[in-house]
Amino acid sequence: MKLGAHQSIAGGYSEALKRVYKIGGNCLQIFSSSPRGWNFPKVDKKELKNFLDLKFKLSIEPVYFHASYLINLADEGKISQMSIKSLVLEMNAASLLNIKGSIIHLGSYKGQKSKTKYQNLIANIREILKKTSKDSLFIIENAGNRKIGQTLEEISQIIKDVNDERLRLCLDTCHLFSNGYQFDNNKDLDEFINKLDKLNLLDRLEVWHINDSRDEFNSGHDRHANIGEGKIDINEFKTLLNHPKTKNYPFIIETPGFDNKGPDKKNLEILKSLIDI
Ligand SMILES: [Zn+2]
Repeated sequence: MKLGAHQSIAGGYSEALKRVYKIGGNCLQIFSSSPRGWNFPKVDKKELKNFLDLKFKLSIEPVYFHASYLINLADEGKISQMSIKSLVLEMNAASLLNIKGSIIHLGSYKGQKSKTKYQNLIANIREILKKTSKDSLFIIENAGNRKIGQTLEEISQIIKDVNDERLRLCLDTCHLFSNGYQFDNNKDLDEFINKLDKLNLLDRLEVWHINDSRDEFNSGHDRHANIGEGKIDINEFKTLLNHPKTKNYPFIIETPGFDNKGPDKKNLEILKSLIDI
């Protein structure tokens, strides 16, 4: 079972490996630099060696980057240039660090979607793929509130139009729930998996973000809650963690934490308790 968490990189990337190991996780998501501004990853030789050695020693696998919140690939001008620069540096750093790639929110159309904005989006993704290492994945996360990629149909169309095998999908249970997707029993999860398959997304599915939701079903919001404290039926997590077609994916929590200090041991332990032996 691959169950892990988003962790802080304070003190260096290696520290995040130690943090996730300490709370009982075996896979990891990190930012490559502070996500609140236009900061770029820097990897020196010592950091690289420390990270690779420790990742192997603690068996933390897979590891993903989560891209900056400022990214907007449907924009024009400075924002899109900074978004491209940031993702190119990040995805190339991922390749060096034996990190699988970047999990990305594509951005928003800021008001009206237009043909030009959509074409920018596709062209910008292609440019990033062209400038990055072939072993680094571009992983689109399904979005929450008023962002690009709220529906599976929309993501499917983008993946079809970019047409590159390095495009993958990350599904966040909180964002799915707030956009009207629910599967708290095997039958509903089977239907959801069939839907993914029909949209050519099942082959692209790489990783799950497993978060409860502070907001109601189909609310259009995307605020995460601790597992069991939100509006998602606990059986949804139980179903996902035990279904033969989903149980082997990596699951990563991005919960607020029971002491509000970020994804924690207690959230992971609740999820572990749902796994049938
Ligand atoms: Zn997420």
